Amino acid sequence: MARQTEEQIKCSFCGRDKRETAVMIAGITGHICDRCIQQASRIVDEELSSRLRDSVLGSVNLLKPFEVKSHLDEFVIGQDEAKKNLSVAVYNHYKRISQTEDEGDVTIEKSNMILVGETGTGKTLLARTIAKILNVPFCIADATVLTEAGYVGEDVESILSRLLQAAEYNVEAAERGIVFIDEVDKISRKSDNPSITRDVSGEGVQQGLLKLLEGSTVGVPPQGGRKHPEQKLVQIDTKNILFVCGGAFDGIDRIISRRLNTSAIGYRSKTQEGEVEKENLLQYVSPSDLREYGLIPELIGRLPLVAFLNPLDQSTLRRILTEPKNALIKQYMRLFEMEDIKLSFEKHVLDYIVEQAMEYKLGARGLRSICEAIMMDAMYELPSQDPKPENFKISLDYAKEKFEKSTFRKLRAA
Ligand code: ADP
Repeated sequence: MARQTEEQIKCSFCGRDKRETAVMIAGITGHICDRCIQQASRIVDEELSSRLRDSVLGSVNLLKPFEVKSHLDEFVIGQDEAKKNLSVAVYNHYKRISQTEDEGDVTIEKSNMILVGETGTGKTLLARTIAKILNVPFCIADATVLTEAGYVGEDVESILSRLLQAAEYNVEAAERGIVFIDEVDKISRKSDNPSITRDVSGEGVQQGLLKLLEGSTVGVPPQGGRKHPEQKLVQIDTKNILFVCGGAFDGIDRIISRRLNTSAIGYRSKTQEGEVEKENLLQYVSPSDLREYGLIPELIGRLPLVAFLNPLDQSTLRRILTEPKNALIKQYMRLFEMEDIKLSFEKHVLDYIVEQAMEYKLGARGLRSICEAIMMDAMYELPSQDPKPENFKISLDYAKEKFEKSTFRKLRAA
């Protein structure tokens, strides 16, 4: 058969010929151009997310825990145990919501969850991603700004104001949302009091949270802030809201280690030197450790699922740079692509970024600042260069030079 000219090769969907497109992909009997691929991909995304939405709210076809986890895998690296726990919790939660009253006399109880792990290990990311997958309203609240009624600060109900805002004031949607309460360890009985105006122990706040977590109808000021007598309150039932709490629980390893070393015959937690392996201690975290840390038993009772997150090691950080769906490196490549520049990195550059993040003990959060320090000059200069280069490769020397003279590094070194 005669070879087709560029003019003759046409997209079978929109009819554009090859010269009008950036990329044309050949199939068995036709072609498809880049624009049609992008449009089709948008349609597929919309269709899938509408099916996901139906599955959550219509409970026709709930996403199975395995499916939830594989969605999480696209965004969160490692943390398999936490992902598994969260997937099951979410699956059971929405199964519970979909249960009709006359389905027998077994009431499935809500299983709120607590995630224990160092800061920057992905607790918020997990909760946020799950809400995105399920397409339910999601908000983050910081436990340290909450105060007992009568003190300066935010009422616990303000958490629900945020959820209501995230649900665009659709009360029904908010009532099926997910709330992530960060830094719950800071309201433990024994923690240092971060506010002079707050109740000394944080216990009052824990009592306030209890009310939300156990499922009750709460009057919520729609705009947040403090309640006041003349304000119109929106009534929100928290029965079906999933609460995920997170905290670093600094020092809890000592409590765990004490418990492990003094309990359980046959438990072999000691290394040859006779010391419990510190790295892995969090995996044994139990409700009793949380109680000893200073959470009140009633609150722990409302957070029946305890999961841990591993500290991020060098190889995980390396994967975080490139593997998640919206990985940092992919984001930079996209930014440059929008300038018609093909950005690439020498392999050692990525290792260098990770080493710096480890050295400065910045975890995954530091990756972004380090990348910014390296990329800043290029992002500043390249867009106005004429002509623009087609390719831009970040070499190790370039990365080192830029990072070493960055204010970031100087600030950190100070
Ligand atoms: P935490 O809530 O545990 O303090 P975050 O979830 O806020 O931590 O994580 C901070 C940032 O670090 C996130 O925005 C994400 O980019 C990155 N990150 C942390 N852990 C992971 C992970 N396991 N996989 C992918 N990215 C991660």
